[in-house]
Formats: sequence, structure tokens, C-alpha cells
Amino acid sequence: MALTTLAAVLADAKQKNYAVPAFNFWTFEDVVGILAAAQEKHSPVILMASPSCVTHLGLAVIGHIVRERAALVDIPVVLHLDHAEDLALLVQAMHHGFTSIMYDGSKLPIDENIANTRYAVQVGNALGVSVEGEIGKMGKGEEGEAGKQILTDPEEAVRFCAETGVDALAIAAGTMHGMQTQQANIRFDIVEEISQRVSTPLVLHGSSGVRNEDLPLLSKTGICKINFGTKLRSTFVESCRDSLSKDPSLKNHVVLLDKAGKAVGEIVKDKISRLGSENQA
Ligand SMILES: [Zn+2]
Repeated sequence: MALTTLAAVLADAKQKNYAVPAFNFWTFEDVVGILAAAQEKHSPVILMASPSCVTHLGLAVIGHIVRERAALVDIPVVLHLDHAEDLALLVQAMHHGFTSIMYDGSKLPIDENIANTRYAVQVGNALGVSVEGEIGKMGKGEEGEAGKQILTDPEEAVRFCAETGVDALAIAAGTMHGMQTQQANIRFDIVEEISQRVSTPLVLHGSSGVRNEDLPLLSKTGICKINFGTKLRSTFVESCRDSLSKDPSLKNHVVLLDKAGKAVGEIVKDKISRLGSENQA
């Protein structure tokens, strides 16, 4: 299918009370593995290019790969730019066919974050591209660098959504990027309060750190997009390590990478089942 927008898939999730899984990718095999798994589960899926993915592949290559592969499946696929702090990069991503972008102004004072996000929404709306914004601080940046965690203030969430018109709002509610173990203490009180006061679909980042039993609970709140990256990355590398230790004479790297992409797909299927997005495509 042709790529769809974030606004479209999140509207359906909000109405039917499930969450759409969003997966970071860094390689062609990640994309193939994620799409095959989502197709098998008949789930809508969001493919996210983080700054490190953009550095590795480039926006043009990402646009081509995802468009071509999405055309081979019959589920809604969103191509999303994750954590862009540079407004010029957002416009370039739109030019290369991204159907959703995240402007991350969470490090800025709230007034400046609102002004920049509103500009991103104006440009996005004009081109039919969805925009996600963020307030609060997660404690760790997209590449795992340390910072101070500031949970999202529900009052600020109300103001941010009203003044920017974003299609989705990322909140800080207890997760951190780069978590290697599933031990996040989710502040369900904050999630509930923001869900009640804001009609904009909410987003949770750093969800590799969320306990499996919390995922179905979160998907029943106002959180409609749940991001996973770290777990997929470690699964890919572990698969390669395992393949090489089992067969030290392996010479064909396509076999190695293909297997790793399939291992990523197994994680994807498990997360889809827990978020209730199975058979929603
Ligand atoms: Zn994130």
C-alpha cells in the first residue's frame, strides 16, 4: 500500500482503544523484518528513522526503501522521522516522502518549543504530513546520553496541544531511552490525567523498558503510539553473534543479516500482540 499518515492510524487506534507500535530501524533487514511481522499480524505499523538512522542511510535512501517495501504489503505503514531538532531536516524529510515527523523541542523553554512546533505543524499540514511534538524530559536522549528526567506537567500538555495543533504528543511518564531491561516505573497517574484532559493521541518513547504486563494497560489509555528501538537493536546484534558462534565458518553476510531481520520480526510480533493492534489493519 501507499504510505499513510500518523494522524490516520492514530485516529483509528484512539477510537478503537488500542495502540499502534512504532519501531526504529537502522538497516534494510530491519525494515523487511518489521514489515513482514506486521503483515503476518495484520497490524498497522509505524517505521521510525532516528537521527542515527538518518546519518547511516540518508533521507533519500530511507524514503525509497520504505516506500518500495510498503508497496508489497497490505497494511497501513507510516514513515516517521523520529526526534528531529532541526526544522530544516523536517522539511527535507517531507520532501523525501516521510508521512510523519517529530519535532523535538523538549530541550527548549516551553514558549520556544511551542513556537517551533507550531511552525512545523503549519508546514506539515500544508503538505499532508503529520507532526508529533514533545514536552517533558525523558532523562536520556535518543542516543542514550544522560539528562535530567522531568515528567510531563498535565497543565503544560493542555496548553501545548491547544497552541500547536500537533497530531500526537510525546509525554515523559517514567520511561527512558536506551533501557536494556524492562523495569520502567510507569506513572499511570500522570498518563491518566493527561489522557483525560487532552484529546490529542499520546506517545510513549523508550518503551523497550516497559514491563510486558504494562503494555496492554498503556494501550488502553490515551497513549496511541508506543515506541520501541533499543530492544530491536540488541536483538539484531545478538542474532548475529549467535549465528557466528554457531557457525564460525559462515562466509555469507546476507544469510547473517537476513536471520537477524527475522529475529527482529519475532520481537515485533510479540509487541503487536500486547498492544492490541493485531488484526486492526
Ligand atoms: Zn524517543
